[in-house]
Amino acid sequence: MVKIQIPEAAEKIMEQLNTHGFEAYAVGGCVRDSLLGREPEDWDITTSAKPEQVKEIFPRTVDTGIQHGTVTVLVDRMGYEVTTYRIDGEYEDGRHPKSVEFTGNLLEDLKRRDFTINAMAYSSREGLVDAFDGRKDLERGIVRCVGNAMDRFTEDALRILRAIRFCAQLGFDMEKETEQAISAIAPNLAKVSKERIQVELTKLLLSAHPERIKDVFENGIGPFISERFEEAGKRLAGGESVRLLPPRKHMRWAGFLRMEDSGDAVSILRDLKLDNETIDGVRTLVSLWKTPIPAHKPAIRKVMSSLTEELFNDLLCFQEIFCREEYREQLRQVKQYSEEIRRAGDCIRLKDMAVTGRELIAAGRKPGPELGVLLNSLFEEVLACPEYNDREYLMELAKKL
Ligand code: ATP
Ligand code: MG
Repeated sequence: MVKIQIPEAAEKIMEQLNTHGFEAYAVGGCVRDSLLGREPEDWDITTSAKPEQVKEIFPRTVDTGIQHGTVTVLVDRMGYEVTTYRIDGEYEDGRHPKSVEFTGNLLEDLKRRDFTINAMAYSSREGLVDAFDGRKDLERGIVRCVGNAMDRFTEDALRILRAIRFCAQLGFDMEKETEQAISAIAPNLAKVSKERIQVELTKLLLSAHPERIKDVFENGIGPFISERFEEAGKRLAGGESVRLLPPRKHMRWAGFLRMEDSGDAVSILRDLKLDNETIDGVRTLVSLWKTPIPAHKPAIRKVMSSLTEELFNDLLCFQEIFCREEYREQLRQVKQYSEEIRRAGDCIRLKDMAVTGRELIAAGRKPGPELGVLLNSLFEEVLACPEYNDREYLMELAKKL
């Protein structure tokens, strides 16, 4: 019998449900990942108990998605989603089920799930419940719809991107019928919300195989995400190297969009409702990575002064992966110089300059825009030559500017 190690708290929740006469299983992603020897991100529980009954059994719960049957049970500050067995009603516009209906039958609940590898349940008492050969598909490395692929993608077109995302995360292939249905139903993605699309694309890019983003374009999905997105797909040069980037949102999105004009990259991401911090990071990397940084400390200080420390490091990392062979030696120098600049504590921030606006005003300068210009000129001098960062010297220099 298959054995899965379930965290103690999740095991306790299931036992308590059993004690009250209900069925309970770990289900979905956690079963899939456990069978693959991967650490599950969270443990979801499916049960025959209705949400109200779950709330009666456990003292601390949160109504996370009560209309869909989900209650979060809190144990030792950890939350476990406990969801009642359900059958999804008819789908509205391929988006959300109009209604959900609770059922007492585990198999009915497993049937509504997207892929065979996500439709397995497990309990310590009964072992693995695998009605759709999910385990075999895991072994063969295949993503396959539960039931008829055309119907399942028609119900919810987001599953198209989920299928590609799971292939990228697990290094799997698409089962043939599932793949054919993807191309056929791709236009329905136009009806899916941009946020949901973005979540899947981000997971895909952060996965072990971000180069599988090409599957999105090869299956004709690009135009239904956006026109600009489809355009970006035509410039997917050297997708393999994106894998070498650390799995952080702005790095991977920038890796994918690096051949775009930075304005286009930003529009694509805005349209997909990415957060501003990620968009800012992508804008910087996409606009700067192609420009070699001179192996010359004043120039390096200038670049460093325009970026956060973290983003400057990200830029060097990005260049290391994507830059031309000819630039490699220069980049090594730049890296070394930037480390020296940091170690020496050279002033690279206006706020660290030995003279402040207030001091210049005290010395008779008028407050206003000219003062800003003056401060910037002094800062330029300091960036070029860190020894100038001396109060007396700068005050003298200010008189001449
Ligand atoms: P991960 O958490 O790594 O993204 P997961 O498999 O846990 O992977 P979730 O989105 O958390 O994915 O969903 C949990 C489970 O709910 C899935 O394993 C699947 O059984 C089911 N599920 C989620 N989204 C859908 C969907 N759009 N259609 C059908 N079933 C779904
Ligand atoms: Mg999950």
